[in-house]
Amino acid sequence: MDTFFIEFRDPLFGIVVFFILLFILSFLSYWWGRYKAAKEHTDLKSFLGKFESLGEGDKLAEQVQTNSLTSESWLLLAQSFEHQGNYEKSVEIYHALLSKNRDPIFQKDALLLLGKSFFKAGFLERARQTFMQILHNSPRTPQALHYLILIYEQLQQYDKALEVMESLQELSPGTSNEKLYIECRILLNDHRIDIDEKAQKLLELYSTHRQLGYMIFEWLFTYRPALAWRHYDQSLSQRLSDVLWRLRDENLDLDIIASNTFLRELFTAKGSVDLCLGSSVFELDVLIALRRCGVAKAALQFEYSCDECNTISFLPFHRCPHCHAIDSLQSIMNLSKERFEENNSLQ
Ligand SMILES: [Zn+2]
Repeated sequence: MDTFFIEFRDPLFGIVVFFILLFILSFLSYWWGRYKAAKEHTDLKSFLGKFESLGEGDKLAEQVQTNSLTSESWLLLAQSFEHQGNYEKSVEIYHALLSKNRDPIFQKDALLLLGKSFFKAGFLERARQTFMQILHNSPRTPQALHYLILIYEQLQQYDKALEVMESLQELSPGTSNEKLYIECRILLNDHRIDIDEKAQKLLELYSTHRQLGYMIFEWLFTYRPALAWRHYDQSLSQRLSDVLWRLRDENLDLDIIASNTFLRELFTAKGSVDLCLGSSVFELDVLIALRRCGVAKAALQFEYSCDECNTISFLPFHRCPHCHAIDSLQSIMNLSKERFEENNSLQ
């Protein structure tokens, strides 16, 4: 027994044990790396096997496999197809590149582009599977999480969007307004809560965060106009000009309108009140002048622009359809012929 302890204390014995442990660790690390790479490759192959070709992509896929162009050049070509709206070709190129180039970083980038192509083309389930595949191998990928939220929003699965949002917030803490937006969506879609309770909760959200003003007051003016006026934030008047313009006369609060310059001009231009002689806003000034001349053959139509990307949309939005920013809507007034509205009302 003593002999064993003497050998155990021998410095040479310690060095031998150290090298044996080092060898075992290196072997395990090498084997784990090989196993992980092989598993990722098998996962990717089974993932790509789920999707049938979207069209005449076989020739293109063959060219990607045999042509001497680099993978980066093919990526650029795929992106240019995507910009033209030719998603079939861009998807085929991404597929072929994923089979050809096994570099993990390249594969992650190509999968992100493939997922975005599916998303833009409207193949939401395919896009979802693609982003899930990225997160399976690299859970800390904010872009994949961001697109997953957009997909769940479009599928109106707001609970799942909120779960993903919580993961995204750990990686990108500056996304609190997006979380608030999803919570607001969940509230508006909850049929178990009655309208009065929803209205109170929306007002609490707005008074706490001072965000989502257009979304919250658009809903309030539609379902509870008296309550909306009682808690009206006058700084939102210009953004809400389309919502206010469409309000019926019986839903107006004349005291608040009389106390706000923009509202006085807007509702005088509409003909609901007669409280001013002109306006600093060109469109309203023209309408007021026409009404004063006894000619009421003009009206307002609205377009919507995004504060972040300046894209113009003909429909109002709460999340920009182009850059996906939240609460970035601005209303733009345009003069139009009253005849147009009359025609619509006859239908
Ligand atoms: Zn935008």
